[in-house]
Amino acid sequence: MNRKVFNLFLTLILTIVFINYFGLSATAKAQSNHPAGQCTGGQTQWKIHDANRPKPPVVVPAVESTSTQAGKAPSDAVVLFDGKDLTNWCSMNGDAAKWIVTSDGVMEATPGSGYIRTKQNFGNMQLHIEWAAPKKVEGSGQGRGNSGVFLMGTYEIQVLDSYQNETYSDGQASAVYGQIPPMVNACRPPGEWQTYDIIFHRPIFNCEKKLVAPARVTVIQNGVLVHDNVAIKGPTNWQQNQPYSYHRSKLPLSLQDHGNPVRYRNIWIRELPDPEERGIVRKELTLGDKLLEKYAGDYEFGRNNILKVVKDENGLVVVPPGRQSFDIFASSETLFFSKFVDVTITFQVNAAGEVEGMVYNLSGSDMKATRVK
Ligand code: MG
Repeated sequence: MNRKVFNLFLTLILTIVFINYFGLSATAKAQSNHPAGQCTGGQTQWKIHDANRPKPPVVVPAVESTSTQAGKAPSDAVVLFDGKDLTNWCSMNGDAAKWIVTSDGVMEATPGSGYIRTKQNFGNMQLHIEWAAPKKVEGSGQGRGNSGVFLMGTYEIQVLDSYQNETYSDGQASAVYGQIPPMVNACRPPGEWQTYDIIFHRPIFNCEKKLVAPARVTVIQNGVLVHDNVAIKGPTNWQQNQPYSYHRSKLPLSLQDHGNPVRYRNIWIRELPDPEERGIVRKELTLGDKLLEKYAGDYEFGRNNILKVVKDENGLVVVPPGRQSFDIFASSETLFFSKFVDVTITFQVNAAGEVEGMVYNLSGSDMKATRVK
């Protein structure tokens, strides 16, 4: 190797060393400003592969329905109808439901029997429900196989025989009624069983009872995505837009009697977490107005120490003397709880059905009050 070639070779080697050293060190410096793995982006409080991260609970998944046989709910679901009876359902006013249960384990809307609702309240949820329009085709448009799944008794996902049956788009099966048509028509022929799998997030109202976030819904009909996390504009209605108005965070699910003998089976709900419940999900019921009115009145704890129980359009409200009023929620026919203060109230009813008083439990301590008005 002559000197000229050697110099050229040396220059090349030095250039490679220079680029590698300073190039890489610049890259390393850039990385040290944003070390991979340490930037959480505010996404999670957990470290990667964190051994303390809670394990998801084991749930036995649902068993799929076939055309002739209802499926089985997942193990952590609230089963609302399993083919036996209407124990979990009532008429809208709290009286016994007038729908029928047939010998093949199906419940059916008897025309004229009225809407039915669950006794239990639900807010955020995963709902599974199966329905079938009458096999014998009668009527057309909105008059054929019409019913409806009313989330929180307020927001209707339309049930309709939309198989080769023309109607307005926002009123066909799976529509958020009067607002949002489904992305596709995934209907099966009349008489065949169809499934709705619905993921619903309730609307959020602030302390002033003003809307903060609308309800959102995802609907899968017969395994086909028809709504992808769409915002519901307000209560659904025929020929009108209705703005949101305040309601409680959980309300009954209701099913529509629209004059057609639509059938239902295999109905279950998995309740989804709600910040208002702070991780403690308590079974919550909607009792009939007649029963709630019985509890409304004045209760005396001591001389002139009167606590009022008032019934408004959403349920019972407690007005303690000189303190902020708060809603109470039924967990049985006589036991109520607050989500605002650590209070439970047990109304005391005598053998004649009269309300004589209450036991007011604050943070674990009982106080007794007598009904005075
Ligand atoms: Mg309907």
